[in-house]
Amino acid sequence: MAQASSALTIIRSSARAAGSRQGTWKWDRAFSATKTCVGCGAEVRPWVSKAGVPMAEAQFARQRFCCGSCAKKHENPMRDIAARQKMSETLRRIGHMPKVRGGNGRPTPLPVMKLHAALGDGWLIEYVMKTGVKRGQSRLPFCYKIDIANPSLMIAIEVDGSTHHGERARQRDSGKEMFLAQSGWSLFRVKNAEALKLSTISGSQAILRTLRGEC
Ligand SMILES: [Zn+2]
Repeated sequence: MAQASSALTIIRSSARAAGSRQGTWKWDRAFSATKTCVGCGAEVRPWVSKAGVPMAEAQFARQRFCCGSCAKKHENPMRDIAARQKMSETLRRIGHMPKVRGGNGRPTPLPVMKLHAALGDGWLIEYVMKTGVKRGQSRLPFCYKIDIANPSLMIAIEVDGSTHHGERARQRDSGKEMFLAQSGWSLFRVKNAEALKLSTISGSQAILRTLRGEC
């Protein structure tokens, strides 16, 4: 960032007749002083409040841009190609990667896909179940997403991967459990490894028997 030395020379009020006193900043000079914006070259005048009080002289002397947006535009180092390249090299070197947070739009995990494929017809992946609540009516969300569901059998299977850890996830899960139970659904929770094991069983009936612990 440029230092104060680059601040442009303030053009004072028009020269007085030799020997006469120059007026004060507040009453005289502030109203005729101008400088040039370092960014866009526009003429900058001291800011004057509605009550007619101008900004301090020292403050005007420090001002380099016509306005905040001009300053952002011209002082943002990312506008410089070399700076951008240096930044991206640094990010690559330190192995920076945006955090993968899961949620909507994440790819379906493999155990879910395999178990869904093994279950066959009537089973839906990432089934969205509307709770029917209106805004502000209840603390329930508008809908719950179920990993694998069979709406006609009212069976839900949740495959708990790495996204089902932590206090918030637990609370969300228990809310979902309660809603499903009240709606008359059965819910089974399986870990990724169990889902993969279940997917090797042939036939949805056999898979359900295993889930219910009937084998
Ligand atoms: Zn400007």
